[in-house]
Amino acid sequence: MLLVGRALSEQEIRDQLQGHYDRTTFYRSFKTLEENRLLHKIVVDPSIVRYAIDPSVFENPEHAHFYCVKCQHVLCLDAIPVHNPALPAGFFIKESELILKGVCKSCGES
Ligand SMILES: [Zn+2]
Ligand SMILES: [Zn+2]
Repeated sequence: MLLVGRALSEQEIRDQLQGHYDRTTFYRSFKTLEENRLLHKIVVDPSIVRYAIDPSVFENPEHAHFYCVKCQHVLCLDAIPVHNPALPAGFFIKESELILKGVCKSCGES
């Protein structure tokens, strides 16, 4: 797979796949990838949506994400578990997301 590492925007994925698929195929396969959890969506805020394709995190669907405020890269942090808080009686968690915002290693060093 060519898209490993940091999470990409839909536009970046489209650019990488350009020439391989036509528009319709792209949207169809994009949705299929998401439904099959081969690709996961990370919503940092409504204007920052990224998609990660990283086989190493598939076994750990509940992992934290890191958003760098400098380079605006989004990374999967599969070594950091997401802890579900204790909820009042009658409440159940179906999904939880942890998005950490800060400065990544490469931006911190420069
Ligand atoms: Zn950075
Ligand atoms: Zn991830």
